[in-house]
Amino acid sequence: MHHFEYRNGEYCCEEVPLSRIAEEVGTPFYCYSHATLLRHFTVFDEAFGAIPHIICFAVKANSSLAVLRIFSKAGGGADVVSGGELYRALKAGIPPEKIVYAGVGKTRNEIRQALEAGILMFNVESSQELIAIDSVAGEMGVKAPVALRVNPDVDPQTHPYISTGLKENKFGMSYNTVLKEYHHAVRFDNIDVIGVHKHIGSQITLISPFVDALEKTLDLVRQLRSEGIDIKYIDMGGGLGITYKDEAPPHPKELAQSIAPMLAETGCTIIFEPGRVIVGNAGALISRVLYTKVNEEKTFLIVDAAMNDLARPSLYGSYQHIVPVEEDAVSRKKVSADVVGPICESGDFLAKDRVMPELRRGELIAVMSAGAYGFTMSSNYNSRPRVPEVLVKGSDYDIIRERETYEDLIKGERLPSYLA
Ligand SMILES: *Cc1c(COP(=O)(O)O)cnc(C)c1O
Repeated sequence: MHHFEYRNGEYCCEEVPLSRIAEEVGTPFYCYSHATLLRHFTVFDEAFGAIPHIICFAVKANSSLAVLRIFSKAGGGADVVSGGELYRALKAGIPPEKIVYAGVGKTRNEIRQALEAGILMFNVESSQELIAIDSVAGEMGVKAPVALRVNPDVDPQTHPYISTGLKENKFGMSYNTVLKEYHHAVRFDNIDVIGVHKHIGSQITLISPFVDALEKTLDLVRQLRSEGIDIKYIDMGGGLGITYKDEAPPHPKELAQSIAPMLAETGCTIIFEPGRVIVGNAGALISRVLYTKVNEEKTFLIVDAAMNDLARPSLYGSYQHIVPVEEDAVSRKKVSADVVGPICESGDFLAKDRVMPELRRGELIAVMSAGAYGFTMSSNYNSRPRVPEVLVKGSDYDIIRERETYEDLIKGERLPSYLA
């Protein structure tokens, strides 16, 4: 559920009409609902209330400091995949002892940064990475806490670009050899093996892949313990899906019913890394119709937001629901239209062949379910300044990130002296 709805003929985020924000900050902009963000976090947290656990929000889904701060105040941690994300998480006040760090290409500098911060653990993705972590920790005279990321070879039945737990994916260590990797890991002087990590993919709408992957992970934990390797943390990764169109993903409570009993038996502290399920439906991208254009084949709705602002439709062909901000428009004649941005690429679209009410120049649309992998994937392509982010709480809103300026676009650029 989310807090976007029509009130008095106007699409609102909580109690604030989106048209009012559009007047004041301009378009396009991302708009997040504080109540929805907090609710989704709390629902997930409470679903696993019976077992010792930490919710490490996946920062790559939405890395806004204000958004991270909401979760940190609610007791959350962070799952980071780069030094930049670690920097953000710490800036947002997330305690280092609640931060886990995954990713196949951690650099020595990033490893050092994480050890200096004192994070909970590294989720290690290869044997060479173990060597690097051991060496950096040795230089610093500290012990690096690690989990090995196991790739359980379970099909999450999701889009191939966001499937991570299959043999052919670049992530983790293969299930058949991970035991050997553990034997290897415990022999390093500067490494403390404390956990097991898995993350099989994103936008998963079934319970069974989670259960299958967990069963394999628990077999591994049992084996490790029988050999005296003390596993204290099981990191379940993220991946629970949301409704973009007509998907019916399990509620976090249903997922918890299926897996919490298995997890409780281990006596471990369980780490969850939800991203999309917490923020996805808590945000929308608001855009204005610039022009409509009807050619022989198609009707185009040309709007001021584009693939650089929201990449998911172009990148994954994904569906984002589109809502007219003025409720009056809903009852208009329907047309089939491509909703496109100003970017010079035919792949620049927010929706294809979408049956929607006929909209006019100057009217506003809300592109829904844009809170996850929306702003974080945005770029400056076509030299378009990145759009502002707005956080609504009740009847108020705050700009939590300003619109970029043209000066921001050229920040750090220099002309070599022979061109000056
Ligand atoms: C992307 C990612 C997540 C979050 O995935 P969601 O589908 O957004 O929940 C969690 N853990 C790791 C390691 C990831 O790479």
